[in-house]
Amino acid sequence: MIPRSHSSLQATWQQQLKQSAISASELVERLQLPVEMIGQLEKASSGFPLRVPDNFLQRIQPGNLSDPLLKQVLPDLAELEHFPGFSNDPLDEQHQSTPSGLLHKYPSRVLLVVTGACPVHCRYCFRRHFPYQQQQMGKQGIEKCLKYIEQHPEINEVILSGGDPLSAPDRLLSDISSRLDQIPHLKRLRIHSRFPVMIPDRINDSLLQWIGHSRLKPVMVLHINHANEINQDLTDACERLKRAGVLLLNQTVLLKGVNDSSEQLCQLSETLFNVSVQPYYLHLLDKVAGAGHFEVSQTNAINLMHQLLEKLPGFLVPKLVREVAGVTSKLPIDLNL
Ligand SMILES: *Cc1c(COP(=O)(O)O)cnc(C)c1O
Ligand code: SF4
Repeated sequence: MIPRSHSSLQATWQQQLKQSAISASELVERLQLPVEMIGQLEKASSGFPLRVPDNFLQRIQPGNLSDPLLKQVLPDLAELEHFPGFSNDPLDEQHQSTPSGLLHKYPSRVLLVVTGACPVHCRYCFRRHFPYQQQQMGKQGIEKCLKYIEQHPEINEVILSGGDPLSAPDRLLSDISSRLDQIPHLKRLRIHSRFPVMIPDRINDSLLQWIGHSRLKPVMVLHINHANEINQDLTDACERLKRAGVLLLNQTVLLKGVNDSSEQLCQLSETLFNVSVQPYYLHLLDKVAGAGHFEVSQTNAINLMHQLLEKLPGFLVPKLVREVAGVTSKLPIDLNL
């Protein structure tokens, strides 16, 4: 397959980012939703603004309020309700002793929060209450993090995260990548991003340049929740990444009304396989305030996993996990409970 070339007539990823729907009226107009919804959408998005790129909107069936892609991005009045056990910082990430922007929870790998900005605002996001929403790490902040990584030889993998790390310009990412390259104990560079899904044109030549030329083995973990998210543009972006030597994995959040059936999860795994992406994690929802209406119980999740194990080859079954504050690893869930 020949990757699509990027003509100068086409909007750059930065322009596409600017053209995202950010108001209730825009979303209603573009998706032919009932105009009466505008008021409630505005109210529901008061705590966490609405944001959806156009490429993702194109994969949503106009007028269909139960579209599994729409549900992920449509503000819902249920976000304002209080659900017991759901809090603003469910993983207690705001109290860490590492330099700000660095999370060192597991001995061998650190998570570097390059920027708090995202191309999309997923309504179930566990970072929806984080104070760093839009800010990007400054030069000084990055220096402190690099120093910390240099001083900790037990770290062999750096994970660029956010927000979405690919919100940052390639100039900055390329600088960080070449600095990490020089730290001898590092082996891998991992990137957690929803950009290939949201704005596939983000996977352009300048990005492939720094990813492909690193000494560190590159891994990208995509975040795809439903097979309908995998369109031709995303398929082409995966192809470009693969050609640059990037190992592609996917994580999914189990979401009520979006992907909580074995049919949907099987179809997702099968479609990921078709585009050479390996299913990695299936996350139980983090209990963040505003996302309670997306919760699938652990019992139902375990039932779904048993069905997946029957229907799919083992290598297409993601690991069911949940994060627990203060515990040093993602907790695999025992399927025999
Ligand atoms: C998820 C996560 C990682 C990576 O964990 P893996 O199990 O290797 O995917 C690293 N650091 C933090 C803080 C995380 O939340
Ligand atoms: S892309 Fe990830 S970090 Fe950004 S809003 Fe969605 S779930 Fe949250």
